[in-house]
Amino acid sequence: DRFRLDGRIVLITGASSGLGNHFAHLLASAGARVAVAARRADKLQCLVESITAAGGQARALALDVTDSTSVRNCFHELTSWGVPDVVVNNAGITVTRPLLEQTEEDFDSVIETNLKGCWLVATEAARRMVATGRGGSIVNIASILGERVASGVAPYAISKAGVVQTTKVMALELARHNIRVNALLPGYVVTDLNREFLSSAAGDKLRSRIPTRRFNELTDLDGPLLLLVSDAGSGMSGSTLAVDGAHL
Ligand code: NDP
Repeated sequence: DRFRLDGRIVLITGASSGLGNHFAHLLASAGARVAVAARRADKLQCLVESITAAGGQARALALDVTDSTSVRNCFHELTSWGVPDVVVNNAGITVTRPLLEQTEEDFDSVIETNLKGCWLVATEAARRMVATGRGGSIVNIASILGERVASGVAPYAISKAGVVQTTKVMALELARHNIRVNALLPGYVVTDLNREFLSSAAGDKLRSRIPTRRFNELTDLDGPLLLLVSDAGSGMSGSTLAVDGAHL
């Protein structure tokens, strides 16, 4: 089964909630050894216990993606397992307010986490994958807002457009090392990131404009993610895979 990940080492950033937490369960049940990384150690510990209780293999790693020393330490800690075969670059934040109310701090925090964080983790992973000579798969969790725009999320949309280009330039330069780099572009999924906004009147309006008239469920992302991380997607690199209910 080319979708299986038995024996593979997977690192997932931002795994303490939302999509990352869900992806950790998914990839552990596909057979991977899953390293889950974020800042909140207590949440990661619960996740590790829950994966282990279900018969999977998981461990928690402290990580702040905005800090290059923390990124290097995280990969260093993981060396007792080895260099990851798969990295899911998922850590991300947003600040939702009108363009002219966004502060310099808002802009910096979103760009540092979503764009610089993605870059730091992806390049550190790639360096180590090159050294093993085994190659690997890097999946950057961008967003439909990396390709289209909406009001109120300027720094976020700008950061995710940067993640899309990061994906394409890395795919180009790393192909000769057998490292695949793809971006997953989810549409809206209700998580801690956006629960307040999506539950508001503005969220209802947004949903009414989605052709399928619904937000995504976490499980809508399962097949697309498995495709990108596994041998089933071995011919894909530099792709942007949108999962968005035909959102216009
Ligand atoms: P959540 O807020 O639920 O999760 C975000 C995760 O990122 C948390 O685990 C958080 O962990 C982690 N994180 C934030 N900052 C850092 C940091 N500096 N270092 C390490 N980890 C960090 O949001 P989602 O699950 O919704 O978002 C996950 C990804 O999916 C993001 O990249 C988001 O942009 C993307 N996405 C989400 C969509 C949605 O509709 N929900 C749609 C499209 C894309 P901790 O605080 O413990 O560090």
